[in-house]
Amino acid sequence: MSITGLCQICESRPAEHRCDNCGALVCEVHYDADLGLCADCAAQARPARERDETDTYRF
Ligand SMILES: [Zn+2]
Ligand SMILES: [Zn+2]
Repeated sequence: MSITGLCQICESRPAEHRCDNCGALVCEVHYDADLGLCADCAAQARPARERDETDTYRF
């Protein structure tokens, strides 16, 4: 796989994945491998309560 260009979210890291929903090219940091979505779409796809739990121990 050879996607060239920068992540469309942070625009500072090389894009390595493509979002299955919006088609955005994103770096590994902004790609959710479980969902196959970029960080933006993953945040919307996830149930709100699950995202709240994730935020508590994020990083
Ligand atoms: Zn990024
Ligand atoms: Zn997306």
